Amino acid sequence: MSWLDRQSFLGAHSERRLGEISVGLVGCGGGNSHVAQQLAHAGIGRFILVDDDLITLSNLNRLIGGTWIDIRRGTAKVEIMRRMILAINPRAHVEVYRSKWQLAGEALSICDVIVGGLDSVRSKDELDAFCRRLVIPYIDQGMDVHHLGDTSGYLVAGQVVLSQPGSPCLRCLGIVTEGALAEEARSYGAAGGRPQVVWPNGVLASLAVGLAVQLVAPWYRRQRLGAYLSYDGNTGKVVESPRFLRQAEVDCVHYPPTAVGDMTFDIRRLGAGGANGTPLIKHWGSTLFRFLRSRLFGHCR
Ligand SMILES: [Zn+2]
Repeated sequence: MSWLDRQSFLGAHSERRLGEISVGLVGCGGGNSHVAQQLAHAGIGRFILVDDDLITLSNLNRLIGGTWIDIRRGTAKVEIMRRMILAINPRAHVEVYRSKWQLAGEALSICDVIVGGLDSVRSKDELDAFCRRLVIPYIDQGMDVHHLGDTSGYLVAGQVVLSQPGSPCLRCLGIVTEGALAEEARSYGAAGGRPQVVWPNGVLASLAVGLAVQLVAPWYRRQRLGAYLSYDGNTGKVVESPRFLRQAEVDCVHYPPTAVGDMTFDIRRLGAGGANGTPLIKHWGSTLFRFLRSRLFGHCR
């Protein structure tokens, strides 16, 4: 008997497949702390965790796995996630990078799926571009709290987007706009106090995990290249955004199909690599093989 017997409907070879998959979690705060926990329970075997931050008191209302002791010690968020994943599945392989994600690009480039838990619009945009170029499915989470007026209270809302070639990107879907980028640039330094709570993060993270597992071990036949699941935390409804349905009919103009591959890749270096070994393996491992494997994930199942 396997610890994953109760999810055997994911396919005869799903345990092996889930165990072989590398998932990158960029930002290990609110939403992605749920994602890390759930993916560990689901049997994902390899994690690349990236976050440059330490846990602080204001994280405790939503960071799954975080404790009072971590706050006293100032534990890195990636270390809390590593501890939580290994407590669930000691056989998981977990790499942690306590840095900006842009400095962990090589590690992230081998991922089969990347899930973002980023607040910054610019970071979302850059990570979407990174994933598009390397043909890695990118799942973006976002939540916000909107004031409804003097007496009406607040709207808790959010969305989860699956972006990959053949589907609308974050710009197509209005998650990234020039206005939002400009507004963020104007208010740079004032960010950090935006409302965040644990329960909508949990809903959105569960949607993200469902999208990730469907990519890896699909349990229904509909092939889903993209998604924009919109969550209204006041009514509890999740719907496919009408904007996604409109944009799905239109080719993305931001990332043409030909704009894929690692721009630093130089075929001439393969010759040099053949002489001393390392660069050759590195490039085949992190770029071409990654590209071909992702094409299989994206289009053959
Ligand atoms: Zn686009």
